[in-house]
Amino acid sequence: MSERVAVLDAKQLKIFTDVVCPFCGTACDDLEIHVEEGGRIKTVKNACALGKATYMHYHEDLATPRIHGQPATLEQCIDAAAEILAAAKYPLIYGLDSTELSAQRKAIELAELIGANIDHTSSV
Ligand code: SF4
Repeated sequence: MSERVAVLDAKQLKIFTDVVCPFCGTACDDLEIHVEEGGRIKTVKNACALGKATYMHYHEDLATPRIHGQPATLEQCIDAAAEILAAAKYPLIYGLDSTELSAQRKAIELAELIGANIDHTSSV
């Protein structure tokens, strides 16, 4: 990742180039991210819709368990996810590209149990 500083519209932007996107298995490494003074991301270039949206809507506080944006315990989140999966007509288990093998086995067991499809991030 390289960095340069530019002045646009009287705001000082830090422009990060050659950024690696961590949001799917493709691992694009040519993103350009413009960050305003104060840390807000203003623009993401060279990313797909998923990568761009994930960067643009990043919130540090989302690293904690939440249900509909409200803080919750991990157990409450698991119960909520189970309710969603149990009610789904066409359940899908998606991702798993950076998931350890034993967790992938559990995801496959769960998919068999609920009749879900499995897809991988390389399909985006
Ligand atoms: S395809 Fe999209 S989500 Fe995947 S690494 Fe590239 S920009 Fe990120």
